[in-house]
Amino acid sequence: MSLDPKRTVAELKELRALTSDENGAQRVAWTETWLKARQWFQSKIKDLPVEHHYDAAGNSWTALRGASDKALLIGGHLDSVPNGGWLDGCLDFLAGLEVLRRFAGEFNGRPPVTVRLVDWADEEGARFGRSLLGSSAFAGTSSVEADRGRTDKDGVRLEDAVERCGFPIDRFPEATLEQKNAAAYIELHIEQGPVLERMQLPLGVVLGTKGVERHAITFFGQEAHSGSTPMDARHDALAAAAKLALEIRSIAGKHQDAVCTMGSVKTFPGIVTAVVGRCETTLDQRDLDAQILAGMYREAQEASHRFAREEKCTVEWSRIWNIEPIAFHPALLGFCEEAVREVAGGAHRLPSGPLHDAAEVARAGIPAVMMFVQSLRGISHNKIEDTREEHLGMAVQALDRLATKAARWILDPSAAG
Ligand SMILES: [Zn+2]
Repeated sequence: MSLDPKRTVAELKELRALTSDENGAQRVAWTETWLKARQWFQSKIKDLPVEHHYDAAGNSWTALRGASDKALLIGGHLDSVPNGGWLDGCLDFLAGLEVLRRFAGEFNGRPPVTVRLVDWADEEGARFGRSLLGSSAFAGTSSVEADRGRTDKDGVRLEDAVERCGFPIDRFPEATLEQKNAAAYIELHIEQGPVLERMQLPLGVVLGTKGVERHAITFFGQEAHSGSTPMDARHDALAAAAKLALEIRSIAGKHQDAVCTMGSVKTFPGIVTAVVGRCETTLDQRDLDAQILAGMYREAQEASHRFAREEKCTVEWSRIWNIEPIAFHPALLGFCEEAVREVAGGAHRLPSGPLHDAAEVARAGIPAVMMFVQSLRGISHNKIEDTREEHLGMAVQALDRLATKAARWILDPSAAG
């Protein structure tokens, strides 16, 4: 079979019809609809010369055996957030399927390198709040003890939900066995942001995923009556938090791709007649450069103490979560740029703000790279998520070219793309 990007678009629509309702995609991992999507995929590969298995963490592997055991991995995820879009995750995976078909067709079922298509389990973490579950098990960076007790909004434990699908959590670490012979990993994804659309470019080369510093910041003041407390006698915890919420704009603004977000503010006692005695906030900071990220974290801390002093309050920080920036592989970045230029003309290199499975693969020491395709209006995790069909076609073509270049490089690392 030769490459047919129109088939990818048709299959995306087929999947949408099967697993969405009027509010969008409903393929939340470890649910019936997700299992239905995976079942549907099985029907797509039954006539291909491939082997299929699930690993211990529920990742789905479809292998086209090549002359060499060294493998090119192509990844995506069929799971979605509730009320999700029609492209996030499944575009990557179904474009990968099309590339797999092309390899099978061109080389009569036996390409020079092995090609393995992976559908990562629970990329979104939508139900249990744990993103990249399957790929982090693959990479060996997850903790069974930390994950087993997580619960969904109905109180169902993650441990029980995965067991019900046939994947006992105690065996998740065995998914690292899949790293064997993995020589390179490529992933296509919608950008989920507005950068490529603003630049009027269909495709982009992803430099890496940004590191994240995520903290809870609590300001402590003094609850007091709103009528009797003079303005200059207040210890207003919200005032201090509000100053920080504005200050993070200039902290991030000094760096081209940095972002800082205060996404949650809770006030106590939280009534109309009291000065705020305690204000609980969160801060999420991201950048591709570890030093910039560390600098922004320090600056935000200093600013919070300054504003606390100004408002006669105190402040405490506690880390919620962090991850270091992950840079993609230089040789693969070069091939990705060539592929994008060949198909779309212009290429732009940009970091990814959202995390992706590719970051976990790179953490496992496997050379990895991602390609972005433009998102209309930059919107994702929403049923209005969209990309021009013409751009989807270009994305499949460029991923296919990247796959060819990466496969050649796997066999001969001294070769150019
Ligand atoms: Zn995704």
